[in-house]
Amino acid sequence: MERKNLIDEINPEIRDVLIEMGAEDIFKCYQCGKCGSACPWFQVGTYDFPVFRVALEAALGTLAASEDKEELAREIDKVYRCVGCEACVDQCPHGVDIPKIFRAARRLLVDFGSYPEVLKATVRRIRETSNPFGEPKDKRPEWAKEIGIKHFDPSMEFLYFAGCIPAFDLRARRVAQATARLLLATEVPFGTLGTAENCCCEIVRRIGAEGVFTELASANIEAFLKAGVERIFVTCPHCYDSFKNEYPDLGSKFEVLHSSQYLLDFIEEGKLKPKRPFEYRVVYHDPCVLGRQNGIYDEPRSILRSIPGIELVEVEDFSRSLSVCCGAGSGGLWMEWDRDERIASVRAKQLTETGADVIAVACPYCLQMIEETTKSLDSEIPVMDVAEILAYSCLEDPGPIILPEDQS
Ligand code: SF4
Ligand code: SF4
Repeated sequence: MERKNLIDEINPEIRDVLIEMGAEDIFKCYQCGKCGSACPWFQVGTYDFPVFRVALEAALGTLAASEDKEELAREIDKVYRCVGCEACVDQCPHGVDIPKIFRAARRLLVDFGSYPEVLKATVRRIRETSNPFGEPKDKRPEWAKEIGIKHFDPSMEFLYFAGCIPAFDLRARRVAQATARLLLATEVPFGTLGTAENCCCEIVRRIGAEGVFTELASANIEAFLKAGVERIFVTCPHCYDSFKNEYPDLGSKFEVLHSSQYLLDFIEEGKLKPKRPFEYRVVYHDPCVLGRQNGIYDEPRSILRSIPGIELVEVEDFSRSLSVCCGAGSGGLWMEWDRDERIASVRAKQLTETGADVIAVACPYCLQMIEETTKSLDSEIPVMDVAEILAYSCLEDPGPIILPEDQS
């Protein structure tokens, strides 16, 4: 592919719009290229993703701005390759927020209506049905009704917000149910919002549909306030990040905790007691949004260590802040990249090569991506949420739990 001559295409107007849309870091970049080697696409190896050029292209106003149809299509493909994992931010010597630059370019593309059809459809479904799958709203509380979870009322200690994937995906539903069964065992009163629960819209914002995010997130805040919610417990790191770090810009003040935090608190308070041994070698995969982006590395590991029988192992060189993304963030879950262009394959291979019997996760996006990918690599290693493993150890009836020997 012929590289465009950037100097001929300098466009200060586009640069200023990008800065206004959040790309204020563009002048901090000194083109060292370190971000490129931190990016998971570098490890995929079959797609040339020149991350280090993005800040320069934005500074010149040439990012996502071509009037040539084919060139613009290539730009859209590039801008929507970023899975928002923030490995580049962590490694950049100048702290340049590259994903924020990509997000600014996405906002520009969304404003022009020039973004991938598959993501347009995702945003449309969220707008119409309050979930990214386009499922009817009245199906959302089914997982909770099956195990008798009450509707939230203000006398309760907290709202449990399972999120869209656990509510609608049958595999992830088992995670929400295992978590809720653990919460029931603590005897601390909690409830869910039933059909009044809507998508947190983190994905909408990361796709670049800022207006839709503001509208739907504001409606969520209204619904929480109307219901009298003060504390929210979540299963999904994407809901966590959105409620904790983005909703406050819209005026929300709720306390938000991720399952790895509140379940650990309950263990430490003696309200949950791991007892049944889980005698397997377990490798924990750090979700980018939970670990790198919110600093929650120790809590899921502490929960796993509290369970008798577990041998906890790490992916050598690619653990904690150096963990490799599953590829599902920022719309990646819905993108259709070629089989040999999948970040999830890199991560699934790293995890299975540890020789673990079980891969533990703490994010429904990672669960879906890694489970689907290990299967496609003909691996029978089960992928389990930390809450499922804890439920197996603590509860008489943990619900359906698939152990390594149950895999066919
Ligand atoms: S690592 Fe930072 S300074 Fe170096 S090229 Fe990437 S964004 Fe620029
Ligand atoms: S956020 Fe992740 S995917 Fe995006 S450019 Fe940075 S390292 Fe690459």
